[in-house]
Amino acid sequence: MKKVIGIDLGGTSIYGGLVDEKGEILKRASRDTGAQEGRKVVLGRIMEVVDELMEGETVEGIGLGSPGFIDVKQGKVLFLGGNIREWTGVNIREELADRIGGLPIYIENDANVAAICEEWLGAVKGLESFIMLTLGTGVGGAIYSKESGMWYGKNYQGAELGHAVLYPNGRLCGCGQKGCVEQYVSGNAVEKNYLEITGQRMKGKDIFARSETDKNCKATVEKFAQDLGLYLVNIKNIFDPEGVVIGGGVINSKEYWWDKMLKYYKENCNNPEGMEILPAKFLNDAGMIGAAKVVFDKM
Ligand SMILES: [Zn+2]
Repeated sequence: MKKVIGIDLGGTSIYGGLVDEKGEILKRASRDTGAQEGRKVVLGRIMEVVDELMEGETVEGIGLGSPGFIDVKQGKVLFLGGNIREWTGVNIREELADRIGGLPIYIENDANVAAICEEWLGAVKGLESFIMLTLGTGVGGAIYSKESGMWYGKNYQGAELGHAVLYPNGRLCGCGQKGCVEQYVSGNAVEKNYLEITGQRMKGKDIFARSETDKNCKATVEKFAQDLGLYLVNIKNIFDPEGVVIGGGVINSKEYWWDKMLKYYKENCNNPEGMEILPAKFLNDAGMIGAAKVVFDKM
């Protein structure tokens, strides 16, 4: 069976997997991203992961999911490369070409690779059309239909669902706009909600865990669930997809907010039954498996 390397580049860690045609991860390697140390260090760490996975193996190609607006034709990060210093503007394919000795390499947006994984083997397998939201440090998005594949947009800025505006003149976002979705329904946003209510800081997962006993945590999570539920109404009305799949780190706490979110969605949508809302099946491995699938699809 053919094997490829799938890499999930995040702001904290780089996870790599040697993946076969069935989507099984046969071997794993990881490094700290070194996000604050800049482009050269991060590229070096990616190569360490690649070298470790390639040792003694025949590999057909490499796929990599990166934060940012990605020009998939060039393999270049156009803008907003997450929290990785000097990541905007880097042509990952060119930078790594010499070091990988002519192996094909494909770069994709990180939310897109998660969506590709869920479509291949996960929660939205077989659906004609779906939207993916990844709720992590920020909010990533992907728009997919069987008929036309991923939606990229003219400037590779399509499907940036985290930067739709939820609150005009709201919180300033890293993208330069105000009131973006990711300022209200990401992991970081939950912490900001709590800070606004109490003047104190608490980790997101602790806020969720205490939301049934502590009134400030409860109010924080209620607000998060409400904002996400309302945003799903917008998604339903803009895209009318067969399904929405929600992934990212915040999904680990879904027992505290999933039903609340559905309630707000159903109360506010004119046709709530018309769209399935599903939690992602692959969490930490989605990036690696989806990045690998990108390579298989090109072969
Ligand atoms: Zn934004």
